[in-house]
Amino acid sequence: MTDLAERKMRFLYALRSKGVTDSRVLTVMEKIDRGDFVRGIFTDRAYEDMPLPIACGQTISQPSVVGLMTQALHVSPRDKVLEVGTGSGYQAAILSLLARRVYTIDRHRRLVREAEKVFAALDLTNITALAGDGSHGLPDQAPFDRIIVTAAAEDPPGPLLAQLREGGIMVLPVGQSDTVQSLIKVTRTPQGYEYEELRPVRFVPLVEGLAQD
Ligand code: SAH
Repeated sequence: MTDLAERKMRFLYALRSKGVTDSRVLTVMEKIDRGDFVRGIFTDRAYEDMPLPIACGQTISQPSVVGLMTQALHVSPRDKVLEVGTGSGYQAAILSLLARRVYTIDRHRRLVREAEKVFAALDLTNITALAGDGSHGLPDQAPFDRIIVTAAAEDPPGPLLAQLREGGIMVLPVGQSDTVQSLIKVTRTPQGYEYEELRPVRFVPLVEGLAQD
């Protein structure tokens, strides 16, 4: 077996051993190559289960966390999904193979531009990437069947709760940025919102406003 094939096999093994057991999620994570979303000196570490630096001082999340969040989101092929925090585009690419349509938004224009190039190269045509402050959601496209936030807020942003369809699911880290946060799953029911705490995580903070670079 080549070195690359062996690394990819270990990558999938690490996902399974950390609780990513949903076969649809594992299948798409085998298809979407994390190496396409990591640049420069870090490409060598693309198949390790750790977050890695990307441009604009941000990070591509740890693959097992991407897998666990995707699994908790229970995406179905008819779903319209909103992702807040495009970053490298890796999470959006995975979602695009599970959902009907993915809207992803980042406050850094440069990250959105770079992610769009990768989506085009991989022929992922059902992703719309936008620059903006995702904490306001995307009122024009609301409601969403699923919402995933990949940056930590102290509380679930109100506009995102409001833009979740009844029966919809939102997965997001909550807590202060310099401490360990909690990954939570919010389900919108006819009566209101149900909250479930999934596990401790660490994400970069959700920051207000469009970045100036
Ligand atoms: N999902 C990404 C990782 C995201 S890192 C991936 O798969 O690679 C978190 C991202 O959230 C960063 O790119 C950061 O710029 C973005 N972000 C932080 N606050 C934001 C906000 N208010 N609106 C949109 N994006 C935001």
